[in-house]
Amino acid sequence: MTDVVTAWTEDAGAAQARALFTEAFDGVAPDGAWSAPGRVNLIGEHTDYNGGLCLPIALPHRTYVALRRRDDDAIRLISGRESGRWEARLDQVGPGTVSGWGAYPAGVAWALEQLGHAVGGFDAAVASAVPYGSGLSSSAALECAFAVAFAGAPGWTGPDAGTDTGRVQLVTACIRAENEIAGANTGGMDQAASLRSQPGHALLLDCRDGGVRHIPFDLSAAGLELLVIDTKAEHALVDGQYAQRRATCEAAAETLEVPTLREISPDLLDGALAALPGAESRKRVRHVVTEIGRVEQFVELLDSGRVREVGPLMDASHASLAEDYEVSCAELDVAVSAARKAGALGARMTGGGFGGSAIALIEAGTSEAVSAAVEQAFADAGFGAPAFLTAVASSPAR
Ligand code: ADP
Ligand code: MG
Repeated sequence: MTDVVTAWTEDAGAAQARALFTEAFDGVAPDGAWSAPGRVNLIGEHTDYNGGLCLPIALPHRTYVALRRRDDDAIRLISGRESGRWEARLDQVGPGTVSGWGAYPAGVAWALEQLGHAVGGFDAAVASAVPYGSGLSSSAALECAFAVAFAGAPGWTGPDAGTDTGRVQLVTACIRAENEIAGANTGGMDQAASLRSQPGHALLLDCRDGGVRHIPFDLSAAGLELLVIDTKAEHALVDGQYAQRRATCEAAAETLEVPTLREISPDLLDGALAALPGAESRKRVRHVVTEIGRVEQFVELLDSGRVREVGPLMDASHASLAEDYEVSCAELDVAVSAARKAGALGARMTGGGFGGSAIALIEAGTSEAVSAAVEQAFADAGFGAPAFLTAVASSPAR
């Protein structure tokens, strides 16, 4: 039997977080329960920090938070995934002053306070069905669940989670939490996907101005499914590689005298490449520019009801990430090639790379067969067993 990661119902997830809370905090009930989804990106990888386009969907797998506000500024957190309590005082939280998983939620509170909104202390319990460190954005799910929890306080006058404008501000706070307090690099796609997606739709996110368009994405109507393959591969130096790619792109934009690589449209690519000094930077820029073009083509196909034709764009995205951007790895390459051999219409790595997950567009009803084929290919290659989940475009944080 392959390892399938199931999503929880919202009631079950909330009940789990509430039970954890009551057990950890002297039998007192929380003020409420909130949740936010992980995400998977359909196409448009390493484009967010280049002001480009990406196309994530919210996963049915969510992170649940039961939270109670405090009168003082103490923060006490527990998680079903971590041992012990994480504790701090809100006035101690700042860049470089806290570490560990609590830095994500505490960072969101800090960022909201920086933006002028009083959050205060809180006790909270976290239960999550989003795989950790698998490129499915458990970190953004954690931040965004807390963001909507804070915004749900009685008398809250900060960003309104009931409006997209308010959610854009919550996205900003979550990005600052991850970059400045947790010390992890993020370009912003993950938080937008978790807070601004709509069920049954992919989120076309324009990272130049934060603009979004909700693109109907109903695979079952087309007799298809989206299989996510969690390679469970972990490679060292991921953060360093991410920072390097980002720096290379920023340096190339500077050489080309544009604010971001987004300004290089596909018809300007050849001229831009000729103006760049090094082979490496030419490859990186070619990936970013062609990948943004592929997002546009993917969306055109979705807009015209031709979702069955997106497979070659997924394959081309993977090739570009592997060869030009050099962020794939053996496990991701085996996952996509085995899925294609087993009948996938297209497959690609998703997320930052160097491990994490791949996605495969498959015929409805073939997920067991495709999963078994991928698992066999992993065994043949001497890799540990991967895990699988089915991605359906789900609800945002609430
Ligand atoms: P990804 O976002 O792809 O899952 P990251 O490395 O960005 O991977 O984020 C994973 C980290 O986020 C974990 O190591 C942990 O610090 C934090 N995290 C995510 N989910 C939870 C959770 N349910 N409980 C506690 N910490 C969590
Ligand atoms: Mg993350």
